[in-house]
Amino acid sequence: MIDTTTKPTEATKGKQKKRKGKNKIKNKNLVGGSFLVKETKAKNVFIPEEWNEEQKMIVATVHDFLMQEIIPHLEELDSQKDPTQMPAILERAGQLGLTSLSIEEAYGGMDLDFNTGLLFGEAVAPGFSFATVIGAQTSIGSLPIVYYGTAEQKAKYLPKIATSEWKTAYCLTEPDAGSDANSGKTKAVLNEAGTHYLLNGQKMWITNGGFADVFIVFAKIDNDKKLSAFIVEKSFGGIELGVEEKKMGIKGSSTVQVFFSDCPVPKENLLGKRGKGFKIALNILNTGRIKLAAGSVGGGKMATLKSVQYANERKQFGKSIGEFGAIKYKLAEMAIRTFAAESGTYRIGYNIDHKYDALHAKGMTSSMAKLEALREFAVECSIMKVYASEMINFVADEAIQIHGGMGYAQETGVERGYRDARITRIYEGTNEINRMLSVGELMKRAFQEKKVDLVQPLKNLPKYLAKQALPFKSKDNYAEETRIVENLKRIFLLISGRAGQKLKLKLVDEQEIIINFADILAEVFVAESTLLRIKKLSQMDDKDGQLMLATKHKMLQVLLFDAIDKVRKSGRDAIFSFASGAEQKVLLGLLNRLTPSYNINPKKLRREIADVLLAKNTYCFSSYPMPDVVM
Ligand SMILES: Cc1cc2nc3c(=O)[nH]c(=O)nc-3n(C[C@H](O)[C@H](O)[C@H](O)COP(=O)(O)OP(=O)(O)OC[C@H]3O[C@@H](n4cnc5c(N)ncnc54)[C@H](O)[C@@H]3O)c2cc1C
Repeated sequence: MIDTTTKPTEATKGKQKKRKGKNKIKNKNLVGGSFLVKETKAKNVFIPEEWNEEQKMIVATVHDFLMQEIIPHLEELDSQKDPTQMPAILERAGQLGLTSLSIEEAYGGMDLDFNTGLLFGEAVAPGFSFATVIGAQTSIGSLPIVYYGTAEQKAKYLPKIATSEWKTAYCLTEPDAGSDANSGKTKAVLNEAGTHYLLNGQKMWITNGGFADVFIVFAKIDNDKKLSAFIVEKSFGGIELGVEEKKMGIKGSSTVQVFFSDCPVPKENLLGKRGKGFKIALNILNTGRIKLAAGSVGGGKMATLKSVQYANERKQFGKSIGEFGAIKYKLAEMAIRTFAAESGTYRIGYNIDHKYDALHAKGMTSSMAKLEALREFAVECSIMKVYASEMINFVADEAIQIHGGMGYAQETGVERGYRDARITRIYEGTNEINRMLSVGELMKRAFQEKKVDLVQPLKNLPKYLAKQALPFKSKDNYAEETRIVENLKRIFLLISGRAGQKLKLKLVDEQEIIINFADILAEVFVAESTLLRIKKLSQMDDKDGQLMLATKHKMLQVLLFDAIDKVRKSGRDAIFSFASGAEQKVLLGLLNRLTPSYNINPKKLRREIADVLLAKNTYCFSSYPMPDVVM
């Protein structure tokens, strides 16, 4: 049971300084986007099977907290009848240290490494609306001060935010400024005395807005073209809140409009530099994106667990429904996609930590190094936001289907999961915007910043294809899978390279084609991350039983089997969209040559994966113990 006194538990004590990296893995490949063109060795990636005991204890502490504070009260929380209930729970989480994970020790936080923060996001996900509430408090609502605050601002705000005595909200979106966030009209004008900015405007969809004490507000000073950021206390006055939005899901979270009318903000509460607010907003959203991916993994595990248990319990036609191939297919797919999303999320989370260590060691300040490390992997953060959110929407939907009519009823809880999952494709940048970003950022890194060379591998393509024609010999157990991933990478380079040469700047207006590229990019990154995970596991198989390793390998095989088709479909879509005649023929020919044939029996493998899940009666591929009681 969790300690509900005000003392932090062993797992959350501030003394555990993990920033220096408990999971020590050397990785020189710390250039975001370079996974496409550089070989990554399995020994250089972090895999979730490497979580240490302290990290697993954090998960257990969070699960205990959810079992005690959230799960028995889901109906009341969703009804929002008592608006003080959710903030009070947040405060109790704060007393246990659960809202101070990313705050520096000097300000009462634990300053845990980034990947442990992601794991926390995964652990809290089965808390439904509470996951959104604590997510806003510990991420978008507080990180702007952690990363950009002055020493005075940090000293004033962070200790109280760390304990959740002060609750926070992030105010970027406006009625006419959603995806186009920089077009916001909220205005800040310095008063005559030069002491305060007077803030006027309207923000919309503000999570935690109904009870926040501190708002991070983005507004334009005078007639600036770019946003600035401000720390605004509710106690400053001039703030009015709209009514709670009636939402499809995450009903227990507060979402309101916030109106500012001559709200006086002391000029020292400008956060960062004037006109740099949009940059702050985007960098904070990068963090939010990968955290959302981790949360989706947590949801995926729990929905799969529930579905496995129901498939074992429910009998029709004289047997449990888990014995039917149609249900086995679903269970296997749910597990495969959850496992794959997990592989990509923590691979990148660890790289962010590693990059931070490298930059900090070179003398960069801690805040700056955190930001730069995140910015480095912006491509991968967008990829994982899209992949994981679409995974959880698929998994949550299949969970309902497996539960049949009971899935449609409120009492089994999968219906809540389905509704709550839907928002993940919308906030932290919609999936359309994130698809544009993953490709756009990659192109920026390649052609403006010259950090990733996308051209040389294309020049080497004839040599690569000639080598492919030779008989295939290798001692590597995973040689075939490695070659598949290599080929898929080259499909991306080939088609995006040709489209770029042909359409040049006009490519930005061809969003359908960019979406094709983003989809290929995501398949490649996730497939490679899963492959590297299995390779690494096979080198340390004492940590993972033989049956588990063999089953995880089967999950990789089915994933790759599907990835080949998805990449081929997106590739053909793109080629038919921008090429015609001889050029089209040549590109299609090359696409065919690069499309690997992979002879597995997907039905047999999916059945075997499902049988392991059903025999274990849980989501058995997690590297921490899943809760006994279904949430
Ligand atoms: C429950 C909830 C909580 C939220 N919490 C917060 C919060 O705490 N703080 C905050 O600031 N905001 C918050 N938001 C706002 C959220 O970030 C926005 O809803 C989101 O960014 C999308 O903006 P929009 O709703 O205006 O959609 P729009 O921008 O109007 O988009 C509508 C559609 O058009 C597409 N679209 C828009 N522009 C393009 C383009 N250039 N290319 C291709 N497609 C495009 C979108 O992908 C989408 O499909 C929250 C929203 C919700 C629903």
